[in-house]
Amino acid sequence: MAKAKEIYKIIEQIAPLCLAEDWDNSGLQIGSYDQDVKKVLLALDVTNEVVQEAIEKGVQLIVSHHPFIFNGIKSLCVDNGKGELVAQLIKNNISVYSAHTNLDSAKFGLNHYIASQLGIKATEPLVQSDQDQLFKLVIFSPQNFSQKILNILGENGAGLLGKYSHSSFRTAGKSTFKPLEGSQPHFGTINKVETVIEDRIETIIDRHLIKTILPILKEVHPYEEMAYDLYPLDPLISKNENGLGKIGYLDNPMSAQDFIDLIKESLGVSFVRTAGPVPEKIEKVALCTGAGAEFLSFAKFKGADAYITGDLKYHEAQNAKENNLWVIDAGHFGTEKNVVYLLKDHLQSHCPFIEIMTSENIKSFFDIY
Ligand SMILES: [Zn+2]
Repeated sequence: MAKAKEIYKIIEQIAPLCLAEDWDNSGLQIGSYDQDVKKVLLALDVTNEVVQEAIEKGVQLIVSHHPFIFNGIKSLCVDNGKGELVAQLIKNNISVYSAHTNLDSAKFGLNHYIASQLGIKATEPLVQSDQDQLFKLVIFSPQNFSQKILNILGENGAGLLGKYSHSSFRTAGKSTFKPLEGSQPHFGTINKVETVIEDRIETIIDRHLIKTILPILKEVHPYEEMAYDLYPLDPLISKNENGLGKIGYLDNPMSAQDFIDLIKESLGVSFVRTAGPVPEKIEKVALCTGAGAEFLSFAKFKGADAYITGDLKYHEAQNAKENNLWVIDAGHFGTEKNVVYLLKDHLQSHCPFIEIMTSENIKSFFDIY
Protein backbone atom coordinates (compact mmCIF):
# COMPACT_ATOMS: atom_id res chain seq x y z
CA MET A 1 0.00 0.00 0.00
CA ALA A 2 1.15 3.58 -0.65
CA LYS A 3 -0.29 7.06 -0.53
CA ALA A 4 -1.50 8.26 -3.94
CA LYS A 5 0.90 11.22 -3.82
CA GLU A 6 3.86 8.83 -3.48
CA ILE A 7 2.79 7.11 -6.69
CA TYR A 8 2.37 10.46 -8.49
CA LYS A 9 5.91 11.38 -7.39
CA ILE A 10 7.28 8.10 -8.76
CA ILE A 11 5.58 8.74 -12.12
CA GLU A 12 6.98 12.28 -12.15
CA GLN A 13 10.49 10.84 -11.77
CA ILE A 14 10.28 9.72 -15.40
CA ALA A 15 7.74 12.35 -16.48
CA PRO A 16 8.44 15.67 -14.70
CA LEU A 17 5.34 17.88 -14.92
CA CYS A 18 7.47 20.85 -16.03
CA LEU A 19 7.99 19.05 -19.37
CA ALA A 20 4.24 19.14 -20.18
CA GLU A 21 3.23 21.39 -23.08
CA ASP A 22 1.38 24.59 -22.13
CA TRP A 23 -1.86 23.36 -23.75
CA ASP A 24 -1.76 20.04 -21.92
CA ASN A 25 -3.45 19.00 -18.67
CA SER A 26 -1.19 16.35 -17.16
CA GLY A 27 -1.23 15.47 -13.47
CA LEU A 28 -4.09 14.76 -11.08
CA GLN A 29 -7.45 14.75 -12.90
CA ILE A 30 -9.85 13.60 -10.20
CA GLY A 31 -9.46 12.40 -6.65
CA SER A 32 -6.94 12.61 -3.91
CA TYR A 33 -3.28 12.99 -3.00
CA ASP A 34 -3.74 11.35 0.38
CA GLN A 35 -5.78 8.24 -0.28
CA ASP A 36 -4.27 4.81 0.31
CA VAL A 37 -3.67 2.88 -2.91
CA LYS A 38 -3.36 -0.90 -3.14
CA LYS A 39 -4.28 -1.44 -6.79
CA VAL A 40 -3.49 0.68 -9.85
CA LEU A 41 -5.04 0.28 -13.31
CA LEU A 42 -3.04 1.56 -16.30
CA ALA A 43 -4.82 2.73 -19.46
CA LEU A 44 -4.31 4.82 -22.59
CA ASP A 45 -7.69 6.56 -22.29
CA VAL A 46 -10.18 6.80 -19.43
CA THR A 47 -13.29 5.38 -21.09
CA ASN A 48 -16.52 3.98 -19.66
CA GLU A 49 -15.11 0.44 -20.08
CA VAL A 50 -11.92 1.34 -18.20
CA VAL A 51 -13.91 2.95 -15.35
CA GLN A 52 -16.20 -0.12 -15.04
CA GLU A 53 -13.12 -2.37 -15.04
CA ALA A 54 -11.55 -0.25 -12.29
CA ILE A 55 -14.73 -0.51 -10.18
CA GLU A 56 -14.98 -4.29 -10.71
CA LYS A 57 -11.32 -4.86 -9.86
CA GLY A 58 -11.45 -2.61 -6.78
CA VAL A 59 -8.63 -0.28 -7.84
CA GLN A 60 -8.05 3.04 -6.11
CA LEU A 61 -6.12 4.74 -8.91
CA ILE A 62 -6.29 4.86 -12.70
CA VAL A 63 -3.17 6.15 -14.44
CA SER A 64 -3.77 7.13 -18.06
CA HIS A 65 -1.66 8.65 -20.81
CA HIS A 66 -4.38 10.86 -22.27
CA PRO A 67 -5.78 13.34 -19.74
CA PHE A 68 -9.33 12.53 -18.64
CA ILE A 69 -10.10 16.25 -18.31
CA PHE A 70 -8.59 18.10 -21.25
CA ASN A 71 -10.67 20.99 -22.51
CA GLY A 72 -12.07 22.06 -19.15
CA ILE A 73 -15.51 21.38 -17.71
CA LYS A 74 -18.23 24.05 -17.65
CA SER A 75 -20.98 21.90 -16.18
CA LEU A 76 -21.13 18.46 -14.65
CA CYS A 77 -24.32 16.61 -15.48
CA VAL A 78 -24.03 13.16 -13.90
CA ASP A 79 -26.78 11.55 -16.03
CA ASN A 80 -24.49 10.50 -18.87
CA GLY A 81 -21.15 10.99 -20.63
CA LYS A 82 -18.09 12.31 -18.82
CA GLY A 83 -20.17 13.66 -15.91
CA GLU A 84 -21.52 10.19 -15.18
CA LEU A 85 -17.99 8.77 -15.19
CA VAL A 86 -16.79 11.53 -12.84
CA ALA A 87 -19.64 10.67 -10.44
CA GLN A 88 -18.85 6.95 -10.58
CA LEU A 89 -15.15 7.58 -9.98
CA ILE A 90 -15.83 9.79 -6.96
CA LYS A 91 -18.49 7.43 -5.51
CA ASN A 92 -16.04 4.54 -5.81
CA ASN A 93 -13.09 6.48 -4.39
CA ILE A 94 -11.04 6.10 -7.57
CA SER A 95 -8.48 8.77 -8.42
CA VAL A 96 -7.33 9.48 -11.95
CA TYR A 97 -3.84 10.71 -12.80
CA SER A 98 -2.52 11.37 -16.33
CA ALA A 99 1.03 11.61 -17.67
CA HIS A 100 0.71 12.97 -21.20
CA THR A 101 3.11 15.31 -23.02
CA ASN A 102 5.48 15.27 -20.03
CA LEU A 103 5.85 11.52 -20.62
CA ASP A 104 6.16 12.10 -24.39
CA SER A 105 9.02 14.57 -23.92
CA ALA A 106 10.91 12.93 -21.08
CA LYS A 107 14.36 11.52 -21.80
CA PHE A 108 13.25 8.02 -20.79
CA GLY A 109 9.59 8.54 -21.66
CA LEU A 110 7.25 7.10 -24.27
CA ASN A 111 9.28 8.00 -27.36
CA HIS A 112 12.37 6.44 -25.81
CA TYR A 113 10.37 3.32 -24.95
CA ILE A 114 8.94 2.91 -28.46
CA ALA A 115 12.37 3.63 -30.01
CA SER A 116 13.80 0.81 -27.84
CA GLN A 117 11.02 -1.55 -28.92
CA LEU A 118 11.97 -0.85 -32.53
CA GLY A 119 15.69 -1.30 -31.83
CA ILE A 120 16.52 2.34 -32.57
CA LYS A 121 19.76 3.20 -30.76
CA ALA A 122 21.78 6.32 -29.88
CA THR A 123 18.66 8.39 -29.81
CA GLU A 124 18.33 12.10 -29.18
CA PRO A 125 15.19 14.25 -29.07
CA LEU A 126 13.66 15.08 -32.44
CA VAL A 127 12.53 18.47 -31.11
CA GLN A 128 14.54 19.53 -28.10
CA SER A 129 12.60 20.78 -25.10
CA ASP A 130 13.62 24.19 -23.76
CA GLN A 131 12.15 23.42 -20.35
CA ASP A 132 15.19 21.67 -19.03
CA GLN A 133 18.59 23.05 -18.28
CA LEU A 134 21.44 22.11 -16.00
CA PHE A 135 22.57 24.35 -13.16
CA LYS A 136 25.52 24.18 -10.81
CA LEU A 137 24.29 24.36 -7.22
CA VAL A 138 26.79 25.39 -4.52
CA ILE A 139 25.83 25.13 -0.85
CA PHE A 140 27.88 26.25 2.12
CA SER A 141 27.48 23.98 5.13
CA PRO A 142 29.01 23.48 8.57
CA GLN A 143 31.26 20.45 8.18
CA ASN A 144 29.36 18.21 10.57
CA PHE A 145 26.26 18.79 8.45
CA SER A 146 27.73 18.18 4.99
CA GLN A 147 26.83 14.49 4.77
CA LYS A 148 23.18 15.25 5.51
CA ILE A 149 23.13 17.87 2.72
CA LEU A 150 24.80 15.42 0.32
CA ASN A 151 22.22 12.73 1.17
CA ILE A 152 19.33 15.09 0.49
CA LEU A 153 20.85 16.21 -2.82
CA GLY A 154 21.47 12.64 -4.00
CA GLU A 155 18.13 11.24 -2.88
CA ASN A 156 16.28 14.01 -4.71
CA GLY A 157 18.01 13.62 -8.06
CA ALA A 158 20.80 16.24 -7.90
CA GLY A 159 24.26 15.15 -9.09
CA LEU A 160 23.01 12.95 -11.91
CA LEU A 161 25.84 12.67 -14.44
CA GLY A 162 25.20 10.16 -17.22
CA LYS A 163 24.91 6.80 -15.48
CA TYR A 164 26.23 8.16 -12.14
CA SER A 165 24.08 9.61 -9.39
CA HIS A 166 25.06 11.45 -6.16
CA SER A 167 27.95 13.29 -7.92
CA SER A 168 29.43 16.16 -5.91
CA PHE A 169 32.65 17.96 -5.06
CA ARG A 170 33.53 19.37 -1.66
CA THR A 171 36.20 21.79 -0.43
CA ALA A 172 36.71 23.23 3.04
CA GLY A 173 37.28 26.92 3.64
CA LYS A 174 36.75 29.81 6.00
CA SER A 175 33.47 31.64 6.06
CA THR A 176 32.80 34.86 7.94
CA PHE A 177 29.60 36.49 9.16
CA LYS A 178 28.37 38.89 11.79
CA PRO A 179 24.98 38.08 13.32
CA LEU A 180 22.94 41.30 13.48
CA GLU A 181 20.35 42.33 16.08
CA GLY A 182 17.28 40.09 15.90
CA SER A 183 19.10 37.14 14.32
CA GLN A 184 19.27 33.71 15.92
CA PRO A 185 22.66 32.35 14.86
CA HIS A 186 23.49 28.65 14.98
CA PHE A 187 27.08 29.72 15.85
CA GLY A 188 28.43 33.01 17.10
CA THR A 189 27.45 36.10 19.04
CA ILE A 190 25.33 39.11 18.07
CA ASN A 191 27.37 41.99 16.59
CA LYS A 192 30.62 39.99 16.55
CA VAL A 193 32.30 38.89 13.31
CA GLU A 194 32.74 35.12 13.38
CA THR A 195 35.02 32.90 11.31
CA VAL A 196 34.12 29.23 10.91
CA ILE A 197 35.35 26.36 8.76
CA GLU A 198 32.64 25.29 6.32
CA ASP A 199 32.34 22.99 3.35
CA ARG A 200 31.56 24.34 -0.10
CA ILE A 201 29.48 21.55 -1.67
CA GLU A 202 29.07 21.62 -5.46
CA THR A 203 26.75 19.55 -7.56
CA ILE A 204 24.68 19.79 -10.73
CA ILE A 205 20.93 19.94 -10.84
CA ASP A 206 18.22 19.94 -13.51
CA ARG A 207 16.12 23.11 -13.63
CA HIS A 208 12.95 21.19 -12.85
CA LEU A 209 14.38 19.89 -9.56
CA ILE A 210 15.35 23.28 -8.17
CA LYS A 211 11.87 24.15 -6.89
CA THR A 212 11.69 20.83 -5.01
CA ILE A 213 15.18 20.60 -3.56
CA LEU A 214 15.84 24.15 -2.35
CA PRO A 215 12.92 24.24 0.14
CA ILE A 216 14.00 20.84 1.56
CA LEU A 217 17.60 22.06 1.98
CA LYS A 218 16.49 25.31 3.59
CA GLU A 219 14.26 23.37 5.98
CA VAL A 220 17.06 21.11 7.26
CA HIS A 221 20.07 23.45 6.97
CA PRO A 222 21.08 24.48 10.52
CA TYR A 223 21.69 28.13 9.61
CA GLU A 224 18.97 30.75 9.72
CA GLU A 225 20.17 31.91 6.28
CA MET A 226 21.43 29.14 4.03
CA ALA A 227 24.15 30.52 1.74
CA TYR A 228 23.99 29.04 -1.76
CA ASP A 229 24.71 29.88 -5.40
CA LEU A 230 22.98 28.70 -8.53
CA TYR A 231 24.76 29.07 -11.89
CA PRO A 232 23.18 28.21 -15.26
CA LEU A 233 25.57 25.97 -17.23
CA ASP A 234 26.37 26.55 -20.86
CA PRO A 235 23.98 24.50 -23.06
CA LEU A 236 27.05 23.02 -24.76
CA ILE A 237 27.87 21.05 -21.61
CA SER A 238 24.34 20.70 -20.31
CA LYS A 239 22.98 18.83 -23.28
CA ASN A 240 19.21 18.73 -23.07
CA GLU A 241 18.01 15.18 -23.50
CA ASN A 242 14.30 15.91 -23.11
CA GLY A 243 12.07 16.79 -26.03
CA LEU A 244 9.31 15.51 -28.27
CA GLY A 245 10.11 12.56 -30.51
CA LYS A 246 13.38 10.70 -30.96
CA ILE A 247 15.85 10.23 -33.76
CA GLY A 248 18.50 7.52 -33.87
CA TYR A 249 19.92 4.56 -35.77
CA LEU A 250 19.02 0.95 -36.42
CA ASP A 251 21.83 -1.48 -35.62
CA ASN A 252 21.75 -2.79 -39.18
CA PRO A 253 20.28 -0.98 -42.18
CA MET A 254 17.22 -2.77 -43.55
CA SER A 255 14.88 -2.67 -46.50
CA ALA A 256 11.64 -0.71 -46.39
CA GLN A 257 9.56 -3.91 -46.35
CA ASP A 258 11.59 -5.41 -43.48
CA PHE A 259 11.22 -2.14 -41.60
CA ILE A 260 7.43 -2.16 -42.04
CA ASP A 261 7.33 -5.78 -40.79
CA LEU A 262 9.44 -4.77 -37.79
CA ILE A 263 7.07 -1.89 -36.92
CA LYS A 264 3.98 -4.09 -37.22
CA GLU A 265 5.48 -6.79 -35.04
CA SER A 266 7.10 -4.54 -32.42
CA LEU A 267 4.11 -2.26 -31.95
CA GLY A 268 1.51 -4.97 -32.45
CA VAL A 269 -0.34 -3.19 -35.24
CA SER A 270 -2.06 -4.95 -38.13
CA PHE A 271 -1.36 -2.30 -40.77
CA VAL A 272 0.47 0.97 -41.42
CA ARG A 273 -0.04 3.70 -44.02
CA THR A 274 2.94 5.33 -45.71
CA ALA A 275 3.47 8.49 -47.72
CA GLY A 276 6.42 9.87 -49.65
CA PRO A 277 9.15 8.10 -51.62
CA VAL A 278 10.21 4.67 -50.34
CA PRO A 279 13.95 4.65 -49.60
CA GLU A 280 16.24 1.78 -50.60
CA LYS A 281 17.63 1.31 -47.10
CA ILE A 282 16.49 2.45 -43.68
CA GLU A 283 19.15 3.28 -41.11
CA LYS A 284 18.39 6.64 -39.51
CA VAL A 285 14.87 6.74 -38.06
CA ALA A 286 12.82 9.54 -36.50
CA LEU A 287 9.65 8.93 -34.57
CA CYS A 288 7.03 10.88 -32.68
CA THR A 289 4.30 8.93 -30.91
CA GLY A 290 0.69 10.10 -31.21
CA ALA A 291 0.22 12.88 -33.74
CA GLY A 292 3.56 14.22 -34.98
CA ALA A 293 2.98 15.38 -38.55
CA GLU A 294 3.95 18.93 -37.53
CA PHE A 295 7.53 17.72 -36.89
CA LEU A 296 8.01 16.24 -40.36
CA SER A 297 10.41 19.05 -41.28
CA PHE A 298 12.57 18.29 -38.20
CA ALA A 299 12.85 14.65 -39.29
CA LYS A 300 13.82 15.79 -42.80
CA PHE A 301 16.30 18.39 -41.55
CA LYS A 302 17.99 15.86 -39.24
CA GLY A 303 18.46 13.42 -42.10
CA ALA A 304 16.01 10.66 -41.21
CA ASP A 305 15.47 7.93 -43.82
CA ALA A 306 12.03 7.27 -42.36
CA TYR A 307 9.69 9.06 -39.95
CA ILE A 308 7.18 7.10 -37.87
CA THR A 309 4.21 8.89 -36.36
CA GLY A 310 0.41 8.71 -36.28
CA ASP A 311 -2.70 10.68 -37.26
CA LEU A 312 -1.35 11.73 -40.66
CA LYS A 313 -3.92 13.80 -42.60
CA TYR A 314 -4.27 13.75 -46.40
CA HIS A 315 -2.40 16.99 -47.03
CA GLU A 316 0.29 16.06 -44.52
CA ALA A 317 0.90 12.98 -46.69
CA GLN A 318 1.23 15.41 -49.63
CA ASN A 319 3.73 17.36 -47.54
CA ALA A 320 5.76 14.16 -47.00
CA LYS A 321 5.88 13.58 -50.75
CA GLU A 322 6.87 17.19 -51.47
CA ASN A 323 9.61 17.02 -48.81
CA ASN A 324 10.94 13.76 -50.20
CA LEU A 325 10.58 12.02 -46.84
CA TRP A 326 9.13 8.55 -46.25
CA VAL A 327 6.55 8.88 -43.48
CA ILE A 328 4.99 5.84 -41.85
CA ASP A 329 1.67 6.34 -40.09
CA ALA A 330 1.39 3.53 -37.53
CA GLY A 331 -1.63 5.21 -35.95
CA HIS A 332 -2.09 7.44 -32.93
CA PHE A 333 -3.34 4.39 -31.02
CA GLY A 334 -0.68 2.09 -32.51
CA THR A 335 2.24 4.29 -31.47
CA GLU A 336 0.89 4.95 -27.97
CA LYS A 337 -0.94 1.86 -26.72
CA ASN A 338 2.25 0.32 -25.28
CA VAL A 339 2.56 3.26 -22.87
CA VAL A 340 0.95 1.06 -20.21
CA TYR A 341 3.93 -1.34 -20.29
CA LEU A 342 6.37 1.53 -19.83
CA LEU A 343 4.34 2.72 -16.82
CA LYS A 344 3.98 -0.83 -15.51
CA ASP A 345 7.74 -1.49 -15.64
CA HIS A 346 8.50 1.78 -13.89
CA LEU A 347 5.83 1.49 -11.19
CA GLN A 348 6.50 -2.18 -10.45
CA SER A 349 10.19 -1.54 -9.89
CA HIS A 350 9.48 1.39 -7.56
CA CYS A 351 6.26 0.21 -5.82
CA PRO A 352 6.70 -3.54 -5.30
CA PHE A 353 3.89 -3.69 -2.71
CA ILE A 354 1.19 -2.35 -5.01
CA GLU A 355 -0.71 -4.39 -7.56
CA ILE A 356 -0.18 -2.79 -10.98
CA MET A 357 -2.56 -3.93 -13.72
CA THR A 358 -2.79 -2.99 -17.39
CA SER A 359 -6.37 -2.48 -18.55
CA GLU A 360 -8.10 -5.14 -20.64
CA ASN A 361 -9.96 -2.30 -22.38
CA ILE A 362 -7.16 -0.55 -24.26
CA LYS A 363 -8.88 -0.20 -27.61
CA SER A 364 -8.73 2.19 -30.53
CA PHE A 365 -11.77 4.40 -31.13
CA PHE A 366 -11.54 3.37 -34.80
CA ASP A 367 -12.92 0.12 -36.22
CA ILE A 368 -11.22 -1.36 -39.27
CA TYR A 369 -13.32 -3.20 -41.87
ZN1 LIG B 1 -1.93 10.62 -27.82
